[in-house]
Amino acid sequence: AYVVAEPCVGCTFTDCVEVCPVDCFYVGPNFIAIHPDECIDCNACVPVCPVEAIYPEDELPEKWAHYAEWNAYLAPRWQALGHNLVEKRPGSPPATDLSCADRPRSEADI
Ligand code: SF4
Repeated sequence: AYVVAEPCVGCTFTDCVEVCPVDCFYVGPNFIAIHPDECIDCNACVPVCPVEAIYPEDELPEKWAHYAEWNAYLAPRWQALGHNLVEKRPGSPPATDLSCADRPRSEADI
C-alpha cells in the first residue's frame, strides 16, 4: 500500500483524494491517511501531491517508516467516523500555494 508521511501534517491541499480510483483517503484534524487494505498501488496520488508526502511503503524514507503503521491505525478509525474524503476540500489552497508547503509541521499536530 501507499503511505502518507510527515509532509502532509497540517497541509491540506487534498489534491490526492480527487485522483484516487478507490477513494481510500481518510481525513483527520491535520492529516490524511491511506487505508492500506483499500489502496490498489496505482501511484495516481504521488505526482499530484504538492508536498511529496506519499510513498509506496517499500520506498518510505527511513525517518518516516513509522508512518506506515500510523496510516494503518488512523485510516480505519477515521473511516469509522465517516471521514472519507473524495473531493478537494472547499477552501483548500491551490497546489501552487507554497505558503502551505513551507509550513512548519510536527507529528504532534496529527
Ligand atoms: Fe489511491 Fe492509487 Fe494513491 Fe493507493 S496509490 S492511495 S489507490 S491513488
